[in-house]
Amino acid sequence: MVSRVIPVEPFDLVIFGGTGDLARRKILPGLYRRFQAGQMTPDSRIIGAARADLDDNGFRALVAEAIAEFVPAERQDKAVLGEFLKQLHYVAIDAKGEGGWPQLKALMRSGVVQAFYFSVAPALFGDLAERLRAHKIAGKNDRIVVEKPFGRDLATARELNATLARHFDESQIYRIDHYLGKETVQNLMAVRFANILFEPLWKAEYIDHVQITVAETVGVDGRGAYYDTSGAMRDMVQNHLMQLLCLIAMEPPYHFDPNAVRDEKLKVIRALDAVQPQDIVRGQYLAGDGQGGYLEHSENPASRTESYIALKCHISNWRWKGTPFYLRTGKRLRARTSEIAITFKEPPHSIFDDAEGWRENVLVIRLQPNEGMNLMMMIKEPGPGGMRLTQVPLDMSFADALGEAHQETPDAYERLIMDVIRGNQTLFMRGDEVEAAWAWADPIITGWESRGDKPQAYDAGSSGPEDALMLMHRDGRRWRDIR
Ligand code: NAD
Repeated sequence: MVSRVIPVEPFDLVIFGGTGDLARRKILPGLYRRFQAGQMTPDSRIIGAARADLDDNGFRALVAEAIAEFVPAERQDKAVLGEFLKQLHYVAIDAKGEGGWPQLKALMRSGVVQAFYFSVAPALFGDLAERLRAHKIAGKNDRIVVEKPFGRDLATARELNATLARHFDESQIYRIDHYLGKETVQNLMAVRFANILFEPLWKAEYIDHVQITVAETVGVDGRGAYYDTSGAMRDMVQNHLMQLLCLIAMEPPYHFDPNAVRDEKLKVIRALDAVQPQDIVRGQYLAGDGQGGYLEHSENPASRTESYIALKCHISNWRWKGTPFYLRTGKRLRARTSEIAITFKEPPHSIFDDAEGWRENVLVIRLQPNEGMNLMMMIKEPGPGGMRLTQVPLDMSFADALGEAHQETPDAYERLIMDVIRGNQTLFMRGDEVEAAWAWADPIITGWESRGDKPQAYDAGSSGPEDALMLMHRDGRRWRDIR
C-alpha cells in the first residue's frame, strides 16, 4: 500500500517566535519533512518573525542547523534542503511595538492561505492578534495557531479566549494540543467508530477500568523555575491526558466534523465528577543517578509543586457510571512511555476447570514509543498439556501491517500544521473545551492548596510514589508496569 500524500494549497505561514526552541525542534523540521514528502508545494512560503536581527539568509542558516540537529540522518537530503530553504523568509519584529509590522505586511501575498503561528510566550498572544488586525495583515479567512499553555486556570483561560475573540472568530483559532496530532490518537477514533467490534462493549457494563499513563524519564532541570509555577496537573493533565480521556469516553459524533467531534468531547468534560482528595496522589522526584531532585531543579527548596500526579476520575453519564478512569503522569520515572489501557471485565462464567492462566482482555493503545495497539486475548496454550489458558497479544503495529510506506509515522506537529492549512479544526481544542477542562481542574488544584497538601517524595527511576500504588490496590486493581 502506498502512502497517499495530497499536496495542500499554496500558503504563507508566518511563525512568530520562528527562532525559538519549539520552532527549531518541531515546527521547522516538521515543515521540512512535509516539503520532502511533496505535501508542501514550491509556491508556499514560511516567514520567520522574531526578535533576533536576522535577514533571510541568517534565518535560512538557523533553519538548516535546526534540520541538521532534529531531522533523523536518513531523512536529510542536501538537494531537498536547498529547495526548502528558498521558501523561507524572515522579518525582525517586535510583538509589543511597531517595529517590523509594515515589512511583514509588504511580504504577504493575496490569493494564498495565510496562517500565523504564535510560537511565543502566551503573554504576547494578545499583542500579536491586535497588531495583525491593526496593520490589516490578517483577514477574516486567515488562521492563527496558538501554543500551550492556554491559561493557568479558568480565569486566565477565559481572559485569553476573550482577547483572541476580540480580533479573530473561533473558526480561525487553532489551539494546539500535540497529543491530538499523534497517529494512534486518531486511530482510536477509527477503531472505535469504523468498526462494530468494540462499540457494543464500550461501556461500564463490560469495561472494568481505564488507565492513562504518560511517563517521562527526564526531570525539569533547565526549566525548573518555570515548571514550578505549573506542575503536572496544569502542564499535562488538564490538557493532554484530558484530551485522551475524552476520545475514549466520548459518544460517537454524528459526523467526523470538527464541531461534532468537539461537542462530544465537551460533554465528557462536563460530565466529569469532582475528584475527591483521597483519589489524588502527588509526588516530587528525589535525587538519583547523579542528578538532582525536584527541589533542587525547581530552585525552590520549599516547593509544593508536583512532578507526578495520579488521579481517579469518574464520568457521570449512562455509558460510564461505575467505570473509573485512572490517570497518571510524571517526570524522572522508570521509562518514557505513553499509553491508554482499557481493561475489560471477566466473562460472566468460566467453563474451564483450570482458569489459572486467565487474565482480563486489555486493549492497549501505545502513543510512544512505537505507536500501535495491542489487544490482549486469551487462547489455549499450544501443546498436548490439556486445556490451559494463556494470554497473547493481537498486535496491531501499524507499520508492520501497512507496509514500508507507513514505517515512519509523521510527527504530530507535521500533521497538525497541515490541518491548519487545510482549514480542519477537528484536532484542535475549542475555546469552550479548554474552559471546561479548567473548570474541572481548578477546584482540584485549589483543594490541595487550601489543605496545604505536600507531594510525596518518590525515587528517580521508579514508577512513582507508594501512595499511587495504593490508589489502585485499594480498588483491587494495579497499574500496568511502566517500561
Ligand atoms: P523560546 O523562548 O525558545 O522562543 C521564544 C521566541 O519568541 C523567540 O523566537 C523570540 O525571538 C520570540 N519573541 C520573544 N519576545 C518577542 C517579542 N517581544 N517580539 C517578537 N518576538 C518575540 O520559546 P519556545 O520554547 O520556543 O516556546 C514558544 C511557545 O511554545 C511558548 O508559548 C511555549 O509555552 C510553547 N511551547 C513550547 C514547547 C517547547 O518544547 N519549547 C512545547 C510546548 C509549548
